[in-house]
Amino acid sequence: MAPKKPVHGKLFINGKWVGSHSGKTFERRNPANPKELVGAFELGGKEDAKQAVDAAEDAFEEWSDTPAPKRGEILFSAAQILKERKEELARIISWEMGKPIVEGRGDVQEAIDTCEYFGGEGRRLLGHTTPSELKSKFCATIRRPVGVVGCITPWNFPVAIPSWKLAPALVCGNTVVFKPASDTPLCATKFVEILTGAGVPPGVLNMVTGPGEAVGMSIVRNKKVLGVSFTGNRDTGRAILENAGVKKVGLELGGKNAVIIMPDADMSLALDGCMWGAFGTTGQRCTAASRIILHEKVKQQFEKHFADRASKFRLGPGTDPRTHMGPLVNRAAQEKSEKYSQIGQDEGAKLLTGGRKPAREGWFFPPTVFTNVDIGMRIAQEEIFGPVVSLVPVSSLNEAIEACNSVEYGLSSSIFTRDINAAFRAIEKIEAGITYVNSATIGAEIHLPFGGVKQTGNGTREAGIEGINEFTETKTVYVDYSGKFQRAQIDG
Ligand code: NDP
Repeated sequence: MAPKKPVHGKLFINGKWVGSHSGKTFERRNPANPKELVGAFELGGKEDAKQAVDAAEDAFEEWSDTPAPKRGEILFSAAQILKERKEELARIISWEMGKPIVEGRGDVQEAIDTCEYFGGEGRRLLGHTTPSELKSKFCATIRRPVGVVGCITPWNFPVAIPSWKLAPALVCGNTVVFKPASDTPLCATKFVEILTGAGVPPGVLNMVTGPGEAVGMSIVRNKKVLGVSFTGNRDTGRAILENAGVKKVGLELGGKNAVIIMPDADMSLALDGCMWGAFGTTGQRCTAASRIILHEKVKQQFEKHFADRASKFRLGPGTDPRTHMGPLVNRAAQEKSEKYSQIGQDEGAKLLTGGRKPAREGWFFPPTVFTNVDIGMRIAQEEIFGPVVSLVPVSSLNEAIEACNSVEYGLSSSIFTRDINAAFRAIEKIEAGITYVNSATIGAEIHLPFGGVKQTGNGTREAGIEGINEFTETKTVYVDYSGKFQRAQIDG
């Protein structure tokens, strides 16, 4: 069972759980049953964010001097605690955010994998050596921490995404101010508890809950913060870039991801992939498949089976193991899916199933499928972040790739085909950070880089070996052991 007693969540600053300057709290309610209070959380503001940054600054020298393998050991301990508390945390995720329990377990598993992977980085953090153009001179690069970094996260992977940022930030020797989404403060609180329990010292990791415009923006604007790692909405990402000043900023923004289905595809595999890609996490993944670009030869067959399966989905609370699809995260998200369902109909697309919120408690919305969608329609261009999917008919691979690339975003993509030439052509030509062949657009593995092109991001990648670039500065080292003064480009 999910915990039933409402929590009083506090801020975590300099190793202590404390109240906010405002003395106020904000509520989080169960999205499957909004009458049920998950908890009341301290309403942090600018002063709290400043205090957290100051604490992180004070802790920086000692933490950055701690040998990286020792920092890594703390992440291994965190992974161990996460394993022991996996079921408890998965239930909290389902309760607070709404995703089915099986996906909640996946969320925690991702955090376990991330802590283990970046724990191992403690014994790597590799630089490189290279020959000098001069005699008796050694050249290398080493990695140094950025300093105090701000990590601002969304609610859709309320433990996994924080782990993607906090684990590499900490192992690289940074101190952190963490601002979690206001829709999932309990998950964030539990994750901070676990990292602290694993041995992260006071001041090294601080968490301030409260509104993004107040807490998040104060962190972004603070000159002592030298790096910001943000995952969330594109407009928020733009505001962050405009306000950060000169500092390192990593942005992971939205997506409008497409699956291409070619006539030679294994249809049953494509159906499974599209169901999971479109409706997993109620379509609230940045990698969710919200467009299915269908070759006209398989259009009729595919759309019938797809809409049929979608219409049979069982909606329910994430904590109920029989649930296929949980609620949306909040009322605004439910209204957004409903609004786009209306836009799709007004634009002349054909609604095959869904489109109206059910008459029940909770922020539910059914799987919604439109067909005969023209690629220029708003439902095929704008991020909905809900279970609303557009089927776009095309007549060739080139047309499919062109349709796929016609959006502002470029995060994930997929093609179902048995033709190796078509697959490699898609890999080469699709404008996205991720391309899957014969699988869904979702389901990143943490030891590979994750991120997108175009309006999805500003060039950084999270996870994998590239994940540490966001949290380190490269220092170039020259050691001249010739005993004489040598000038590059002149004395060689
Ligand atoms: P938001 O941008 O609204 O919120 C994300 C985080 O930013 C929250 O912690 C939020 O706080 C905070 N925030 C809000 N406004 C500001 C501000 N002005 N300054 C600083 N911080 C701020 O995104 P959503 O919560 O709507 O998340 C969904 C979005 O995230 C989707 O667009 C999705 O595509 C994207 N996403 C991208 C991923 C990727 O890797 N590319 C992965 C997952 C999601 P608060 O909650 O208090 O408002």
